[in-house]
Amino acid sequence: MCGIVGYIGHREAYPIILKGLKRLEYRGYDSAGIALYDGNDIKLSKTKGKVDDLEARVAKEINTEGTLGIGHTRWATHGVPNDVNSHPHYSNSGELVIIHNGIIENYEPLKQELETRGYVFKSDTDTEVLVNLIEDIKKNEDIMLGKAVQIALNQVVGAYAIAVFDRSKPNEIVVARLGSPLAIGIGEDEFFIASDASPFIEYTNNAIYLEDEEMAVVRRGKDVKIRKIPDDSLVDSYVQELQLNLEQIEKGGYPHFMLKEIYEQPHAIGDTFRGRLLPEEAIIKMSGVEDNMKKFLNANRIIIIACGTSWHAGLVAEYIFEDLARIQVEVDYASEFRYRNPVITENDVVIAISQSGETADTLAAIKLAKSRGAFVFGVCNVVGSSIARETDAGAYTHAGPEIGVASTKAFTTQITILTLIALRMARAKGTISSSDFRHHMIELEMIPEKVEIALKSDALVSQIADIYKNAKNFLYLGRGYNFPVALEGALKLKEISYIHAEGYPAAEMKHGPIALIDENMPTVVIATKKGHYDKIVSNIQEIKSRSGVIIAIVTKGDVTVKELADHVIEVPETLECLAPLLTTIPLQLLSYHIAVLLGKNVDQPRNLAKSVTVE
Ligand code: GLU
Repeated sequence: MCGIVGYIGHREAYPIILKGLKRLEYRGYDSAGIALYDGNDIKLSKTKGKVDDLEARVAKEINTEGTLGIGHTRWATHGVPNDVNSHPHYSNSGELVIIHNGIIENYEPLKQELETRGYVFKSDTDTEVLVNLIEDIKKNEDIMLGKAVQIALNQVVGAYAIAVFDRSKPNEIVVARLGSPLAIGIGEDEFFIASDASPFIEYTNNAIYLEDEEMAVVRRGKDVKIRKIPDDSLVDSYVQELQLNLEQIEKGGYPHFMLKEIYEQPHAIGDTFRGRLLPEEAIIKMSGVEDNMKKFLNANRIIIIACGTSWHAGLVAEYIFEDLARIQVEVDYASEFRYRNPVITENDVVIAISQSGETADTLAAIKLAKSRGAFVFGVCNVVGSSIARETDAGAYTHAGPEIGVASTKAFTTQITILTLIALRMARAKGTISSSDFRHHMIELEMIPEKVEIALKSDALVSQIADIYKNAKNFLYLGRGYNFPVALEGALKLKEISYIHAEGYPAAEMKHGPIALIDENMPTVVIATKKGHYDKIVSNIQEIKSRSGVIIAIVTKGDVTVKELADHVIEVPETLECLAPLLTTIPLQLLSYHIAVLLGKNVDQPRNLAKSVTVE
């Protein structure tokens, strides 16, 4: 996923594009680049890093005059983030220049074909293949750029939003989309191109959103005509009046990225299992697991290494793997593992989890495990990240960029992936019956819908947050599968509200934390119906007997806890092993609302960074 911006009109393009890129940076931020046409020539500047880095580079490298330009923020899929792989990309002749959001899946055969015709590639990207394919067609058939783009796109498999222009025809930009978004903002004698409307909202309220398989040649001072890519037919374009203000668009209508990401979870979890979870065929398809099934089946134990929230997802996975696949699991902090001289054998499978795929301690732990002969499997979100490259095999969570520093959708999608692996392994080992296997798959498939229902507790959670926002300490308790959720709930609260919170296995409370309980310290208890329910009811009673305040997360329809607790928040019923995917939702919302009520910077909490690349 990346952000693309373009401008053609009567104003200076550079400031518009630069500001637009900053607004789209949430979509991708590993590199950025820009190409401008100044009436004479193309000027291009690009760099690995943020839009701020690009701005600094542009200041040194090029003069920024020009009323036509395109810009890009990258979220690498093909080729590591570096200067060369950054967009825009030139064609071999230097006549065409392109920006692209998406993946050209058949880039490999296209590249080979072009190489046989003498084309040379500087980058590892699929995008550079596309721009040269367009150039090749344009040259051979002696046609206009728009036509060449259309022919090229009919040969392409994959997803794209592109903007491309031609040095010799600097009065037009050709745009097209399939699968990745692209909007054209229509001003007076000027056009804006962008992945969403945020880059041009202050210039115009009128926009055309291209549909899949549509393209347009955007000409200075002319009307925009939209055509269907497969058959060149003209489309009746629909100019929308944008209702949104700038602030809303930047965060998709949410006040913070964190809240947006909390609400994205139904979708993100669905994206994680799409194409992998196939209940109708009773199979789980994951090539990284399939190709290494022997390793998984011969493993003596699984060692999970991670940090922070990913470590909590690893703890949930410990319960799932042991329960379903009957294999011994150890979960370790990467920072401890790497310095502990751990016992690792060739029969160990190490699973490393990291949202960014760049966590320094996890990377070092992976290297150590590999050097001692273990097979290392990576679970990360960012495609092409260091951990993805360093591991023997792996699976992406496909959660989309997570910008809020407090991780939310990364946690639930990591649990989803790990559940898929555990189920696949259990099936192969025969530790789960085929009917149970199918039942688990059907239940997992229903999770996005149930997360949607869990999100409906938002208003209630916000009222509860208002009552307890000034508490100095919180205790979070859970048992079994919900114990790691208690840890994660406490971590969320600490991270963004700076309130001290501790997560504990509920039974352990008697071994210390119970001494802290009084009417000023709220205890959040996860008390779902399945799994140690009676035990946790007893724990609640113990707290109530000491004047403690209880905020309980319960299964819909619960009666017993409702009578005891001060507040109850319901989540839908599911299998015990899937409960964390639901019980974590109100806890995310609770920390979010408390932080907002306290006036904290939710998306950029003090002292923290999204991707911890130092140890
Ligand atoms: N596939 C292209 C690349 O890796 C575009 C990725 C993006 O959408 O940023 O460069």
